[in-house]
Amino acid sequence: MSVEQVSQVFDTILVLDFGSQYSHLITRRLREFNIYAEMLPCTQKIKDLAWKPTGVILSGGPYSVYAEDAPHVDPEVFNLDVPVLGICYGMQELAWLNGKQVARGEKREYGPSTLKVIDAACPLFKNVDHSTVWMSHGDKLIGLPNGFKVVATSDNSPYCGIAHESKPIYGLQFHPEVTHSAKGKELLKNFAVDICKATQNWTMENFIETEIKRIRTLVGPTAEVIGAVSGGVDSTVAAKLMTEAIGERFHAIMVDNGVLRLNEAENVKKNLGAGLGINLTVVDAADEFLDKLKGVTDPEKKRKLIGNTFIHVFEREAEKIKPKDGTDVEFLLQGTLYPDVIESISFKGPSQTIKTHHNVGGLLDNMKLKLIEPLRELFKDEVRHLGELLGIPHDLVWRHPFPGPGIAIRVLGEVTREQVAIARKADYIYIEEIRNAGLYGQISQAFACLLPVKSVGVMGDQRTYDQVIALRAIETTDFMTADWFPFPHEFLKKVAARIVNEVDGVARVTYDITSKPPATVEWE
Ligand code: GLN
Repeated sequence: MSVEQVSQVFDTILVLDFGSQYSHLITRRLREFNIYAEMLPCTQKIKDLAWKPTGVILSGGPYSVYAEDAPHVDPEVFNLDVPVLGICYGMQELAWLNGKQVARGEKREYGPSTLKVIDAACPLFKNVDHSTVWMSHGDKLIGLPNGFKVVATSDNSPYCGIAHESKPIYGLQFHPEVTHSAKGKELLKNFAVDICKATQNWTMENFIETEIKRIRTLVGPTAEVIGAVSGGVDSTVAAKLMTEAIGERFHAIMVDNGVLRLNEAENVKKNLGAGLGINLTVVDAADEFLDKLKGVTDPEKKRKLIGNTFIHVFEREAEKIKPKDGTDVEFLLQGTLYPDVIESISFKGPSQTIKTHHNVGGLLDNMKLKLIEPLRELFKDEVRHLGELLGIPHDLVWRHPFPGPGIAIRVLGEVTREQVAIARKADYIYIEEIRNAGLYGQISQAFACLLPVKSVGVMGDQRTYDQVIALRAIETTDFMTADWFPFPHEFLKKVAARIVNEVDGVARVTYDITSKPPATVEWE
């Protein structure tokens, strides 16, 4: 039986990416009104698609359509007989293909402009007249493409919106996908729902059902699957979904590397094993990791060492899982999300490296496993929604991210059991106070770092000479840039007092007030 892709089950808008920094937002926006959309590079050949799109959107891009090496769309797109919308570069591409009337403008247009709709009957502009739109272009149309008419203008763009005279082909000079375009989402909805007639059935309820079916078909009636869980959102949701689909034939392995958060292994046992009914083995490999970390102070070395040891321990544990019929485990579960997929397929030329999860590449090669990635079509907020529908507790679903190398990169300098214990306790108190203050949900990530610096203090008339804890808390939407969180002073006062009083070995607490860039979120 062949396994159907999500794009074969749901009406799907194909977004062809010409390299704009906003391309993924087109996909994001469409999904917000329950229409499934998938992004592929602009070089995608239609004959190689296993599914038929309900509509096609050509994204923006940094190139100029008239340049010799500019990327161009597969002309077969126009033989699909489905609506097409070109955005910025995408519109210029439509113009280029229909008369080549595109050239460099005298002035670049970047920022807000006001949309004026000329053709009120154009279905693209239902309820969106006279709104602010976001421009970002240097090239412009210098004439109307053959077979097209003007449907909207703006002060600086006489061809702000164009439509084909007889076919459902549209072009927009501005970016409806960015939130600065006030009615942009409405406009994309008009295109997808009214013009493409896509069914608005992309919901996580429907996804669970089709994905469980898909997993069962893919895995078959007997094969076994293994996967690592970390206690984080993605691996927990993926593991729960697998459990719903194939029950005990999914084996979750949690490796306690000795640098997890306080009580983490017990909590995962309780929440995932007992609570969610996931077939879970927790491996205590703390000594193995900590022994290897002895004397290592270089952050990159720490990361590599932990990554490699993880692969080693995971493989060893996986060996012990022998399916009843004596065959080997066939699949490896990975919690890849859509942003990782997007990053790997974005049209940016060959210099872009694909981001791989710190532990998967090696595992696949060594163990001859097939990869199963049930979340690879989902954005983070979709995963969280899915997690809630699967009955995963709220606090777990909304947990801050935690790095693979764990507290090892939050203990600056050498990682010893004693240092890990200090960092862990301080972090625990800090997070507990953040939760008590009701601030956890407003912060994207918070943690404590142990600095290998000694400082003088006084406690009970005794001189102390102990280490420093640095607290970090950031707000961000994408972790590419971040700003520090403005805690009330009273809060910081309370946390600092608790940490110095309750954690032996700490004489001072500081708060990190650096944004990213120039700093990174983690200290190492
Ligand atoms: N590179 C083209 C221009 O400057 C298109 C820009 C875009 O798609 N945002 O006009």
